[in-house]
Amino acid sequence: MQIKNPKIAIFDLDNTLSESRSRIDAEMAELICALLDKMSVAVISGASFSYFDKQLLSQLSCMEKFDRLFILPTSGAELWAHKENRWNMIYKDSMPDDLKKKATDAVASVAGIKAEDRKKYIDDRGTQITYAGLGADASMEEKKKYDPDQLKRRKFISEIKDLLPEFSLRIGGTSSIDITVKGVDKSFGIKRLFSFVGINSQDAVFIGDALYEGGNDESVKNIEGVRIIETSGPEHTKNIIRELVKI
Ligand SMILES: [Mg+2]
Repeated sequence: MQIKNPKIAIFDLDNTLSESRSRIDAEMAELICALLDKMSVAVISGASFSYFDKQLLSQLSCMEKFDRLFILPTSGAELWAHKENRWNMIYKDSMPDDLKKKATDAVASVAGIKAEDRKKYIDDRGTQITYAGLGADASMEEKKKYDPDQLKRRKFISEIKDLLPEFSLRIGGTSSIDITVKGVDKSFGIKRLFSFVGINSQDAVFIGDALYEGGNDESVKNIEGVRIIETSGPEHTKNIIRELVKI
């Protein structure tokens, strides 16, 4: 691996650090804590902060290093940093209510979701609307079988995109589609992180699983200078972190 002294490692969460919507395992937690001795770490995902808390932060036993850890929920529309023993929101780009309604109505109509089922399938995360193809309560097993080749979600995006020209639509997790205001994507969040932390893109490495066309990590490829490593999943990511810890 050709990575020269990065100052920050930025990770996607679902299918990169953990199985989609699951907690990171103990080995991953240990590796992240070891990496924090070497460099800053940021994690960016379509998930909301409460998911980060459950899936990632609650599993880490190195709180003394959290001042070097940065969290970017909802595809980078929010940035959280840890200071004086607590997590602080640095910024939040809320989606205006009229746009939320537009996105929600379009998803409900194209997916054929009844008014009483909207909450189950469409999640308002403040800065992002997320459509979960199987609903919020589906098991991991069901989600894995739902759309492994992403064809269902690509078809859905092609059907809805003309209705939502002012939005970005991306495939995330195993069964969901993240909808943000155009321009709000991981590259947007990461650039803001760089200016907040005072780091050049050349000093950053990004690790994610969805760098393919339409994937929710794809936009990171547009940030000049960032070195990008594609991972096939958490076990692969562990090996990448082991290499980074050696640096
Ligand atoms: Mg992912």
